[in-house]
Amino acid sequence: MRPEFIELRNHPDVSVLIIGGGINGIGLFNELSLQGIDVVLVDKADFCSGTSAAMTRIIHGGLRYLENAELRLVREALQERNRLLKNAPHYVKPMPTTIPIFNWMSGIIPGIRNLLNWPTKPGNRGALMIKTGLTLYDFLAGRESPLPKHLFRTGWAARALRPALNPGVICTATYYDAKITYPERLCLELVQDAEAAYPQAHAMNYVRMISAKGGVVVLHDEISGETCEVKPKIVVNAAGPWIDGANKTIGRESQFIGGTKGSHIVLDHPELVAATGDDMIYFVNRDGRICIFYVVGGKVIAGATDIPTSDPDAVCDEGEVDYLLDSMSQAFPSIKVDRSHVVFRICGVRPLPLSNALTPGQISRDHSFPVLPAGNGIEFPIYSLVGGKWTTYRALAEQVANEILRVLGRARVRSSADIPIGGGKGYPRLPQGTGLSQERLLILQERYGATADRVAAYMKAGLDEPLVYHAGYSRREIEYIALNERVVHLDDLIMRRTLIGILGELTMPLLKELAVVVSYVLLWPEQKTTAEIERTIQLFKKVHGVILAA
Ligand SMILES: Cc1cc2nc3c(=O)[nH]c(=O)nc-3n(C[C@H](O)[C@H](O)[C@H](O)COP(=O)(O)OP(=O)(O)OC[C@H]3O[C@@H](n4cnc5c(N)ncnc54)[C@H](O)[C@@H]3O)c2cc1C
Repeated sequence: MRPEFIELRNHPDVSVLIIGGGINGIGLFNELSLQGIDVVLVDKADFCSGTSAAMTRIIHGGLRYLENAELRLVREALQERNRLLKNAPHYVKPMPTTIPIFNWMSGIIPGIRNLLNWPTKPGNRGALMIKTGLTLYDFLAGRESPLPKHLFRTGWAARALRPALNPGVICTATYYDAKITYPERLCLELVQDAEAAYPQAHAMNYVRMISAKGGVVVLHDEISGETCEVKPKIVVNAAGPWIDGANKTIGRESQFIGGTKGSHIVLDHPELVAATGDDMIYFVNRDGRICIFYVVGGKVIAGATDIPTSDPDAVCDEGEVDYLLDSMSQAFPSIKVDRSHVVFRICGVRPLPLSNALTPGQISRDHSFPVLPAGNGIEFPIYSLVGGKWTTYRALAEQVANEILRVLGRARVRSSADIPIGGGKGYPRLPQGTGLSQERLLILQERYGATADRVAAYMKAGLDEPLVYHAGYSRREIEYIALNERVVHLDDLIMRRTLIGILGELTMPLLKELAVVVSYVLLWPEQKTTAEIERTIQLFKKVHGVILAA
């Protein structure tokens, strides 16, 4: 039995139970542990495997939200962006963002109508409108912003930098936001930091909340099949797009979520990589929707769609792939992009508030945490974390924690605002005396931040060699991850501890090689190893549009 289950069976009373280990649940878990609150977090799958893994991977203020006059949200998001650049410098890096602009004046009338609260479908945004928006964006980022201010280039100067740019572009605007290289790893670091900060904080992946009655919530270990009862004073439902379903499981009806699905495709296309350069390209598609693409690990990630859905498990469909492929031609019409370049698809459902906005893009991305008070046979209140952005997780966590502290009659003891996260502590320290090459150390630093010294020490402590089917990783590096990073299934390693999955680098021989390394250190019997390989093959086929051939 899991040690956490043994402890919960002996001491079932906890102050807070969090259902859902996406960024919002984990952010709150971290925040509460800092305040010395005993808290248990469970996720039915791996940490950060729901919507939080399907993000565009930008840490941003949300330039687009200015059109909806959401100044408070943009200001808050920019502050959190600036904090993440400081607290997680190993994973959150400045990223220039370039907007190709096709005319001077358009978008002003719809913009004014939206500001006056007469919702209008947005269309093309001209130079004047974008200039106004970026000036305000720079202002809202505040003096403490570590990023440069925006600049405009004439069409000629922009094409000199990017010859493939659409000839119809009259000028470009470049402003700065940030990219996050490993959102899933940052979530894991927040979990590990929280457990290190307070011994009564426990997070479990692959544990599902399955029912509740009176003051008791029943948890189910998805691996062993065992169950365990918890008696929380407060429940936080951080189940993202599954929120209403989770409330129903507890025995409380809610209609908080009006989800929209968002898909990205990953393209293996060297010409597109060269044309894109270091910037994120941010443009308005023919239907008025914002699309983006940028380069990650030598591939281009393009997205995202925004389609209402009631299915929290939605996957990227063929229509979305067509839409995203077609949208690329808006920016670089001379570069041919088709399905043969698509190496991976990923989809997530935004847990947005139920809304009657004219278009999905106009639904507010702000967060809220409505409460279902104790009642209907349930003895604890349930706070549901609705909406929000990855970027603003800490602000949401701080606000919810303040409310929880008030209800528990406890005082805040610490702010999370300036605490470095995981391998951000001591970054950019490079491991010393390992005997590894400078090139290898820099790769480890990019993957693990300052924690690279622990990884390097493990690699040095035994015979090591590069993987046969992925020379970018070594056998002992994979062993380190499997042993230290809460890997339960093979796809945790492939999809969330490394970028192997999302970059479309997984092949059948590599999958088998990884299975051998992981099964060796996690002592998996042969049957389990075979089942794990099959699980990954099916996941890649059904969810990510990848057929792994023998
Ligand atoms: C396509 C797309 C692009 C985006 N891009 C960005 C971006 O670039 N920047 C940004 O800031 N934001 C972005 N967002 C928004 C951001 O990703 C989400 O707002 C955020 O990830 C929501 O996190 P969450 O923790 O609320 O939900 P989730 O990450 O979905 O977490 C919910 C968790 O609850 C678990 N769960 C559900 N039911 C149960 C149960 N019964 N028991 C136990 N566990 C359960 C699930 O397994 C899941 O892990 C994007 C969203 C999408 C869809």
